[in-house]
Amino acid sequence: RQEQYRSLRGIPAITRDGTAITLQLNAGLLVDMPNIVDTGASGIGLFRTELQFMVSERMPSTSEQQTLYQQVLIEAGGAPVTFRTLDIGGDKILPYMQAAEEENPALGWRAIRIGLDRPGLLRSQLRALLKASSGYHLRIMFPMVATVEEFLRAKSMVGREQAYLRKYGHPEPESVSLGVMVEVPSLLFQLDEIASHADFLSVGSNDLLQFLFAADRDNKQVSDRFDPLSAPALRALRAIADAAARHGCPVTLCGEIGGRPLEAMALIGIGYRAFSMTPASIGPVKAMLLELNVTELANTMSTLLGSSEKGSLRPALAAFAAAHG
Ligand code: PEP
Ligand code: MG
Repeated sequence: RQEQYRSLRGIPAITRDGTAITLQLNAGLLVDMPNIVDTGASGIGLFRTELQFMVSERMPSTSEQQTLYQQVLIEAGGAPVTFRTLDIGGDKILPYMQAAEEENPALGWRAIRIGLDRPGLLRSQLRALLKASSGYHLRIMFPMVATVEEFLRAKSMVGREQAYLRKYGHPEPESVSLGVMVEVPSLLFQLDEIASHADFLSVGSNDLLQFLFAADRDNKQVSDRFDPLSAPALRALRAIADAAARHGCPVTLCGEIGGRPLEAMALIGIGYRAFSMTPASIGPVKAMLLELNVTELANTMSTLLGSSEKGSLRPALAAFAAAHG
């Protein structure tokens, strides 16, 4: 099996009926970078910048951050890298950072919320990213955005850092794209606004599903109770893909479900064309999509999601997969 997956490395990720699917990797440290070549992925769709902060004994300085980002871009060898700004707080507490105990850390002071409340921290990271990216296309996305306004504030912070660097004559990135992680359900009701302001969207389905079903992603007793292949989950995910398409806004899905072949198949069936996943998932997902007829699948999915059938679509989707190789 492993051998079979390895042999797919150089084969383009195109479905049987000619739809190209982008397969990228989730990463967080320099040691993850050789996985691009090992798996044949087309880039890093999610670089979790908090990893550097978590393995460090003190707050990494702007120049230490810049050094890491620069090395990441060099090791990516021209492949696109999407950096996610710090997703700390909640359960990802940094030992050197003061934070109050919280009753519900997942719903607490975390990610972009800290970034906006403590602009020094986010500004230092944005500056490091901008400086590291001269001569590169810089892609930044913000985690746990709950309102359009939060994204606009983050965006204006980037603008201020760019103006600062320009004023002091620092070389600039070739281009800067700013994206939003869709992982808080409130964004489901601001999809047109957010898709019109963002350069790209990235669905954090781990968090989105945990919040949608009110089920702690790390608590086995509840995390498996709700199937991502059920109508409510798939309709929510489809609404995001639809809004992205309406606005010509590229969308990637970077949660764990994108790395499971049957789930990835269903996501392709509702309009997703780009995924970011762990290295070990690239082979199995590619093997699935090489056999896939998207038009047929899309019809089946639209019938399934339109019917009043309750419960999981998993058996029906598994049957579709079995019947089509
Ligand atoms: C997600 O929430 O789906 C995601 C990709 O981010 P993380 O797992 O780091 O929260
Ligand atoms: Mg998340």
